[in-house]
Amino acid sequence: STFSALGIRKDYIKSIQEIGISKPTEIQEKAIPILLKSKTDFIGLAQTGTGKTAAFGLPVLHQIDASSEHIQALILSPTRELVQQIKKQLFKFTKYVDERIFLEAVFGGEKIDRQMNNLKRTTHIVVATPGRLIDLIERGAVDISHVKTVILDEADEMLSMGFKQDLNRILKFTTKSDRKTWLFSATMPEEIKKIIKTYMDGNAPRVE
Ligand code: AMP
Repeated sequence: STFSALGIRKDYIKSIQEIGISKPTEIQEKAIPILLKSKTDFIGLAQTGTGKTAAFGLPVLHQIDASSEHIQALILSPTRELVQQIKKQLFKFTKYVDERIFLEAVFGGEKIDRQMNNLKRTTHIVVATPGRLIDLIERGAVDISHVKTVILDEADEMLSMGFKQDLNRILKFTTKSDRKTWLFSATMPEEIKKIIKTYMDGNAPRVE
């Protein structure tokens, strides 16, 4: 298949081709049409290196209303490196998009004041480690009231790194009927199943 056939917009095709991505990987082929269309939760079983960043990143970019200045999506990932990598990849995807989409990466271990200042500018997508995101929500620097999509990347890793409580708190804040949660994980331990059961739609499409 091609990214066009999966429903990806021309302006995004241009940038991904420039990056050297032309043929969708398996997870992209399965996830993109669902994530572009459906207003449901989603569960993707996928390892790193399978192209899952583009699998959730392109669909989430498609749904951002750039004329609004609100945060519309949260992407959670276990480490600073992964958070920065996701932001960088999504930013590259937006190169030929007319309206600017603003992404911000926030993570622990860096001065929170700077991140709070950055978040005062228009931000559409926040990519974050769970602990720092909670901190920023509590300080009023991240307004989650307009968030439509919450993406959990490497959910199993986030749990094994001790983010269980933070994740539960974030999901308690964010899972409402009009919001979607897209969960990606390489494995499905009991704790992930519990998160799915507690916060997600039991009929959510699953892809592996
Ligand atoms: P990820 O699994 O999302 O961390 O992606 C791993 C690497 O594969 C990244 O460097 C991507 O840019 C690259 N990549 C993602 N999708 C494709 C694709 N369809 N074809 C070739 N490379 C890709």
